[in-house]
Amino acid sequence: MIRLDKYLADMGLGTRSEVKRSIARGAVTVDGQPVRKPEHKIDQTSSEVRFDGAIVGYEEYEYYMLNKPQGVVSATTDNRDKTVLDLIGTKKRKDLFPVGRLDKDTEGLLLITNDGALSHSLLSPKKHVDKVYYAKVEGMVTAEDVEKFREGLDIGEKLPTKPGELEILKSAEISEVRLTIREGKFHQVKRMFHAVGKEVVYLKRLRMGSLVLDETLAPGNYRPLSGQEVAELK
Ligand code: URA
Repeated sequence: MIRLDKYLADMGLGTRSEVKRSIARGAVTVDGQPVRKPEHKIDQTSSEVRFDGAIVGYEEYEYYMLNKPQGVVSATTDNRDKTVLDLIGTKKRKDLFPVGRLDKDTEGLLLITNDGALSHSLLSPKKHVDKVYYAKVEGMVTAEDVEKFREGLDIGEKLPTKPGELEILKSAEISEVRLTIREGKFHQVKRMFHAVGKEVVYLKRLRMGSLVLDETLAPGNYRPLSGQEVAELK
């Protein structure tokens, strides 16, 4: 059970004081009856709440898959830069956040939600959730590099990295690779390539656990997760 004003504010119908005013003017009905008290308790699962006649369904959690473009930061607010949250135009709730971070110049899969338990389990080092990246790297990536990634690399942390599966898609002046890792240290992919003397010039995340980037999403676009995608992540 939650208060009517919180219910409406959570669903993006205004700030707490704006929805209080709407309730006072009689814009809101609960199970067919006008309710003018903001503290009126609502059962989110069974009450039918209408705002100016339109049904307001309550969702406890929102889940979005974003194809993060370059140039935006993985934060909820920022004084200078646009954030990934600024891109989710249809969000209702104000408590959404990105699950983990991609660098400002990294593209690709980012999950945006307010489900703290799911976020925690996806990011927990103990869970070893695999993350798959596509990268363009300056210099020829070799079979020796593949072996070094598999053995673990010294990236200046206490321990070497856990084995990473490096797959060479193209070995050339600018090589193309796919890399699967099960950790998420700061700048990890870039630091792993630095450890073998190479520079990442483009990085895109393709997958996180069971969640695969929808390739029909152009950079900057997003869509809600399907019920099945959410269930598979849990
Ligand atoms: N590794 C990096 O170096 N950068 C990212 O954004 C993600 C993984």
